Amino acid sequence: MVDRFGRDITYMRVSVTELCNLRCRYCMPEDGIFKKRHDQMLTEEEMITAIRAAASLGIRKLRITGGEPLVKKNILSICRRASQVPGIRELCITTNAILLPPLARPLREAGVSRVNISLDSLDARKFRTITRCGELRQAAEGIRAALEAGFEKVKLNTVLIGGFNDDEIPDLAELTRRYPLDLRFIELMPMVDSGDFSPEAFIPCKVVLEKLPELRPVSPDGGVARLYRLPGAQGNIGLISPVSAHFCAACSRIRLTADGIIKPCLHSGEEYSLKGLAYEDMVEELRRAILCKPLWRGVLDAENHSRAGRSMNQIGG
Ligand code: SAM
Ligand code: SF4
Repeated sequence: MVDRFGRDITYMRVSVTELCNLRCRYCMPEDGIFKKRHDQMLTEEEMITAIRAAASLGIRKLRITGGEPLVKKNILSICRRASQVPGIRELCITTNAILLPPLARPLREAGVSRVNISLDSLDARKFRTITRCGELRQAAEGIRAALEAGFEKVKLNTVLIGGFNDDEIPDLAELTRRYPLDLRFIELMPMVDSGDFSPEAFIPCKVVLEKLPELRPVSPDGGVARLYRLPGAQGNIGLISPVSAHFCAACSRIRLTADGIIKPCLHSGEEYSLKGLAYEDMVEELRRAILCKPLWRGVLDAENHSRAGRSMNQIGG
């Protein structure tokens, strides 16, 4: 479905849970989140109905996210059923990979074609610092399992944090020479739970180009990242700049949260609830949400803070 500004809305990010086995400092409070009641969350049945409704309006690509989608007990069933919804052509998942080793192949068999894995440091101590509790060794095993499971694409996502991992840009980029994977650097966004960071932590993606002068531009793939490649590399390096160079004019996405809210824009407070609605009413509510999708991030406040009103784990990053 085309919105008021001519953008064809074809992509929905579906958060299947707000819960997570890590506590990344830019995403979640240390004590975790206030757990909502079971009956406030979408059931598997409602999630699939919402996906059917979205597909009827032209959604073609889904990304399963969270929270951490792999802590959800019925994740394989959700993926299998989502991939079979008529109109859905691509099913992707974003995960921290900690629980991926036994799940990588079953997810591939359930119809997931692409997997994005978050990895902010190659140093075990720093990995534990940023995730507050994660073990790098487990994430590395998850990445290995993803590479072996035959996904069409494996991508690593690194949130760029000044004074924390900008010194690791060359080592992280080197992974694209050693393995058949893409790496994307993402600017840290000022969300509800990223208040711990000093202004120096928010660095623009152009720092990557300064640190890696040998990067050569490659043709865009239709996504939001500007793409580059190291000489001799097997995969691309993408730069995603939601803060320094927003991509709102070309945004084709909406988000469905685990409690059934449609967010037409990540940074806007605008919300439409699908919880408890029948299929036809979900279609109507989705239509309203798409028609209210704002044009660009005039939705950020004067200090560039998001007006999302929810943290990333509650929205589905
Ligand atoms: N748990 C999964 C994971 O970490 O990959 C999926 C959910 S997580 C919310 C999705 C993505 O959002 C991750 O790549 C994470 O790094 C990113 N993210 C979370 N908070 C962010 C922030 N404040 N700025 C930029 N990226 C953020
Ligand atoms: Fe969990 Fe992903 Fe948020 Fe980290 S970024 S706390 S892994 S949901």
